[in-house]
Amino acid sequence: MTTAEIIAIGTELLLGETVDTNTRYIARTLRGLGVNLFRAQTIGDNAGRIAALMREALSRADFVITTGGLGPTVDDPTREAAASAAGLFLEYRPELWEQIKARIAHYGRVPTENQKRQAYLPQFALPIENPVGTAPAFIVEIGEKSIVCLPGVPREMETLLEDAVIPYLQKRYNLNDVIRVRTLHVSGVGEGALDERIGDLETLANPTIGLTAHSGIVSIRIAARAGTTAEAGALIAKIEDDVRSRLGDDIFGADEDTLEAATLRAVAERGWTLACLEFQTEDALQTRLARAAHPAFRGGSRLPVREESLAGVLEKTRVQFNVSSALGVACFNEGDEQIARLALITPHGREERLLDYGGHPGNLPRWAVNMALDWLRRKAVSVEENVK
Ligand code: AMP
Ligand code: MG
Repeated sequence: MTTAEIIAIGTELLLGETVDTNTRYIARTLRGLGVNLFRAQTIGDNAGRIAALMREALSRADFVITTGGLGPTVDDPTREAAASAAGLFLEYRPELWEQIKARIAHYGRVPTENQKRQAYLPQFALPIENPVGTAPAFIVEIGEKSIVCLPGVPREMETLLEDAVIPYLQKRYNLNDVIRVRTLHVSGVGEGALDERIGDLETLANPTIGLTAHSGIVSIRIAARAGTTAEAGALIAKIEDDVRSRLGDDIFGADEDTLEAATLRAVAERGWTLACLEFQTEDALQTRLARAAHPAFRGGSRLPVREESLAGVLEKTRVQFNVSSALGVACFNEGDEQIARLALITPHGREERLLDYGGHPGNLPRWAVNMALDWLRRKAVSVEENVK
């Protein structure tokens, strides 16, 4: 089992000025390689503190990947920190300076004296040439362990990681495992209820199964590790079949699928067309339905004022858009009461529902829209079953 840690370097990250997207990218890459990521940390531009953190991380993990702090200024501390963590000096590499100058000339500029700092690496470090920027990255090997230092600019970091670092790590740590992930999405079932139905699977070691809940949607993440992509796929397929047989139509989609797209597919399969109406939802329903870009959706409108009968106005919307079905959502934040009123018209009739919401008020519109979409989706799917 190979283990790793990530260190994101940059005071701008700690100040909240830059979002740390590099950690996420590296974490996903490591997951794909079958490496166990134990920690990911963020630290400011201070060579002493970074060196201490590198040493600490290396005492636990097989290798550490850092991003950031490789620029040409005195504030860019990673070279010095890595040297100090390994107990080495920085040494000047004339061949790196030639590459940096050539790169800068390529951009039509003249190198500044401080850019020469980037040609200094810890002794014995393996340079990683940077074809997409000036800062060379490098790897310091300490016995069986390694510190991999990558630039902070995301595109540069990603290029060097893919082209140089992954092959290096695969070879050095015999990383032959792949991890594949499949995510199934469920709507209209609470996390607790779902837990009762598939909880026994959540204790499996390979694949692992985890639930994440977000405003009426629960995602079931199935992750398998194996020697080949095909083997991992087979492990996933077995569990996916099991989960699907238990949950049936509670599952609306997988991976990148969305509830609105699944709902529109179900609507279209019935031969229905759809319009929508909403009140105090930040237009989330029509925005999401429109983004799904399905011809069954014909448009939506916003209710300007509160109306006593949502279903009554919804019928007017249905006629206005000349469609066979219509979905309405109205959100009300009243004191400590949060309510969603839903209305649904299909060729099979007209219904209203009143739901209480117990979560954070800011999530009420998203939750209400998810409940409405799920209601329509289930209606369309169950009609299909009745017909069969
Ligand atoms: P540096 O290598 O520290 O000079 O970083 C160069 C630039 O890369 C910074 O100005 C940020 O815009 C960006 N950057 C640094 N670290 C990260 C990170 N962890 N995630 C995303 N962008 C970053
Ligand atoms: Mg920086």
